[in-house]
Amino acid sequence: MRLPKFDYRRPERIQEACAILLDQPCAKLMAGGTDLLVNMKHRAETPSTIVSLKALPDLDFVQKTNSALRIGALTPLKKVYNDPFVAAKLPALAIAASSVGSYHHQTMGTIGGNLCQQTRCKYFNQSKWWRSSRPLCFKAGGELCHVAKREGVCYSTYCGDVAPALLAFGAEVILTGAHGLRQVPLEEIFSGDGKTPLKIGRGEILTEIVIPNQAADGFSTYGKSANRGSIDFPIVGAAVWRSSSTGESRIALTAVDRKPVRARRLEDFLEGKQLNEETFQAVDGLVAKESRLMPSSIDSLSYKRKLMGLLVQSALSEARGGE
Ligand SMILES: Cc1cc2nc3c(=O)[nH]c(=O)nc-3n(C[C@H](O)[C@H](O)[C@H](O)COP(=O)(O)OP(=O)(O)OC[C@H]3O[C@@H](n4cnc5c(N)ncnc54)[C@H](O)[C@@H]3O)c2cc1C
Ligand code: SF4
Repeated sequence: MRLPKFDYRRPERIQEACAILLDQPCAKLMAGGTDLLVNMKHRAETPSTIVSLKALPDLDFVQKTNSALRIGALTPLKKVYNDPFVAAKLPALAIAASSVGSYHHQTMGTIGGNLCQQTRCKYFNQSKWWRSSRPLCFKAGGELCHVAKREGVCYSTYCGDVAPALLAFGAEVILTGAHGLRQVPLEEIFSGDGKTPLKIGRGEILTEIVIPNQAADGFSTYGKSANRGSIDFPIVGAAVWRSSSTGESRIALTAVDRKPVRARRLEDFLEGKQLNEETFQAVDGLVAKESRLMPSSIDSLSYKRKLMGLLVQSALSEARGGE
């Protein structure tokens, strides 16, 4: 499959990249290109200009400071999970990054690109020829949705592996724009709209991920179920973090909604509770209420609900082993 025609820019300064984005609304950023270029080959995305981030300096690093672990947005996933501090103290992140696609995706793909990847739908992530057998859906510029009949809403699903681990750690991100930078909780950059899944300003670039030190003081893990274990997006993914000092639990899920979700009702339920068989029984029913599952993937909703419960129970039972 060939790429469509596009202009290519390779700025060497962030301000230059921001200026191109502001000047050209149809331009798209590219980091490793492992998500964007596939979508372009399918004509699911057709930017007029690609703005490569690869020549920008100082965005490929994993750095420990007194208060946080800072990771540059252009850091390849392989470098993230091979970092000794991440591997030893933040296992949920190491497991999530090393479960993305294949080894090649982990070498080329960056942590920033992983967080900012497009949502997915069985009617949309197909070749143009496949899609042409039906009327264009809302996300493709048409007027209807093949998943649900509600007008103007796209229910495509966020399937990134790394976001749930970072949400469970309470991570923040730095967004850099033409007029400076701002630091916001990671959760805030996801819009919950399948058509435009990111809520970052025009001309802004995700430049850094900040994981507070507190995240390293506890148990964490990430569980993923996929149709093809060696290369696939998650059917469901679940990250669990449990504090060693306070017993607080944080749980986040992916591939269950239009954005990665924190399972807050379940977290509240677990507060102050012992991790035992009785608690695990209740988890199953509670976790299914945490998302707005829609039939936009090839797997059935009942199967996904079952997996959500099993993955969270399995992670909590691992956490109990460590207490
Ligand atoms: C066969 C296959 C299997 C895959 N399996 C998985 C999987 O199991 N799990 C998973 O999570 N992903 C998977 N992916 C998707 C993709 O490979 C990864 O998400 C990868 O980490 C994307 O990173 P990238 O640097 O290549 O992103 P790119 O493709 O360069 O960018 C992805 C998107 O993010 C935007 N973007 C990139 N960097 C920034 C930034 N710094 N600021 C703002 N926007 C930015 C781009 O404009 C683009 O829209 C798979 C892809 C393929 C083709
Ligand atoms: S959820 Fe509906 S609008 Fe969104 S990509 Fe799928 S078919 Fe298109």
